[in-house]
Amino acid sequence: MTVHRGDPRTDARHAALRSPLPEPERQLPVDVTWLRRRAKMFAHVAQRPFHLVVDLQAYASATGLAFHSHYVAQVYRGPENARLGVPLMAVNLARVGTREEADRALAHETMHLVVPSYGHKVAAFDRAQLLLDQVGQLDVTA
Ligand SMILES: [Zn+2]
Repeated sequence: MTVHRGDPRTDARHAALRSPLPEPERQLPVDVTWLRRRAKMFAHVAQRPFHLVVDLQAYASATGLAFHSHYVAQVYRGPENARLGVPLMAVNLARVGTREEADRALAHETMHLVVPSYGHKVAAFDRAQLLLDQVGQLDVTA
């Protein structure tokens, strides 16, 4: 459930996710304000609210999970017998250099919230791409 370099097939599927942002904007850096607005768009199209957390120490102490510095993003739904009403999504701003990378991470993690059983199968990334496409549609009508 964590985006970081690992299985090469998963990495390739992640890297193939296409951001709907126009080319020049894809390469822009990510700030917290943009990331929060963007995360809300993913939550909206997925109809799955989550709290975005960029303070990784706060995330680690709230969840009891280690958030290693090479991690890009992670979701936490709470323990199996006590799921959180609104899950947490941690994003490591130091690891998302561009809006394109942030879009991939947001889509990937939102997908885990929507279809946790899909793991990192092809279908999981098809779903993540669908979320990106839906966020792109929001852009047009915004
Ligand atoms: Zn994952």
